[in-house]
Amino acid sequence: MANAPRFLDKLVNMTAIHDLELMEYSLLKTLEEFIRPQELLILKFDRNGVANYQLTLKKDKYEIIWEEIVISDEIQAGIEIVSRTKQPFSRKLDSDTLLTVWHILQPKSQEVFLVTTTKDRLNTLDTHMINGLLGIYRNFYAVLSDSQLDMLTGLPNRKTFDETINKISLNRPLATENVPINRRTDLNGEDAKFWLGMADIDNFKRINDNWGHLYGDEVLLLTSQLMQAHFRENDYLFRFGGEEFVIILSAPTEEKALIAFDRFRVAMEEYPFPQVGQVTVSIGVIKMDPSIFTATLLDHADKALYYAKNNGRNKICNYGELLEKGLVEEKEIISGEIEFF
Ligand code: GH3
Ligand code: MG
Ligand code: MG
Repeated sequence: MANAPRFLDKLVNMTAIHDLELMEYSLLKTLEEFIRPQELLILKFDRNGVANYQLTLKKDKYEIIWEEIVISDEIQAGIEIVSRTKQPFSRKLDSDTLLTVWHILQPKSQEVFLVTTTKDRLNTLDTHMINGLLGIYRNFYAVLSDSQLDMLTGLPNRKTFDETINKISLNRPLATENVPINRRTDLNGEDAKFWLGMADIDNFKRINDNWGHLYGDEVLLLTSQLMQAHFRENDYLFRFGGEEFVIILSAPTEEKALIAFDRFRVAMEEYPFPQVGQVTVSIGVIKMDPSIFTATLLDHADKALYYAKNNGRNKICNYGELLEKGLVEEKEIISGEIEFF
């Protein structure tokens, strides 16, 4: 295999990545280079079988869609077969185009597929290569999800928050070229407005004290599920620590952002938690600004949260509004302190 040294280089690059999303770009890029497909897709479905993520690589351009994903009948039929058999399935789209669906993995709440469209039939070497790369991806998924996801809730953890916030807020060039533009410039587009919410369960200590830690853990798990159900697929959700969660969402106006956070607050208030009954949450919200250090953003969100806690709990406080009304004082965290985050 004349390409072997280059292929090994690619593998080394791929395995140096410590981020699931980058890993997926890199997987597609590597496949593109060695298989020369017409189109490559990674498709993810939620536990109800609804497509909620599509990463496409076509002619060197990446595209990600989270909503209103349109899947062709041919791909849908292939997915259904592969979901059952877990084996690759191919069919001809026309005399010289071949569509193949590959099963990648099926962690707890989703199922992930690769779809390749190639000009000719894949030869044995291509098939071996794709299977090998998917195997590497699966192993890395296991290792990375252990370190990036919180064990109890399955949400990205604090460490992943630190990495993600750097990606979306500081506009730093990333360690690899394999990143779609929209992920890099999120906060700098004209309409891109991002909001960070720091949510903390109210009187959680009392839940542990009254019902025991197992019920406390159950509340944390159900809270994370309510978050997943009430925020959108492309919002970022994290378990920040203990009974604290961070949500980053994009919304065109402050009003729309606050409505989204309130939807979750109300969902918590209304959910009948087994045994424990009603559990509420307070949220401190801050508009994100790429020129503000993460440490300062978090400090401001925390101040708004603290204000909500001191003013009755089960509510959302917006730092910008509190500042305008003179209810909180502004304090910039100087750059020397940023090392802690
Ligand atoms: P507040 O409304 O002011 O937020 O009051 P609170 O009781 O929620 O806040 P406090 O910070 O006093 O208590 C948080 C508690 O969360 C203390 C800690 O024992 C508990 N906790 C943190 N992590 C976990 C966990 O993983 N499982 C369980 N069961 N409890 C946890
Ligand atoms: Mg707390
Ligand atoms: Mg609390």
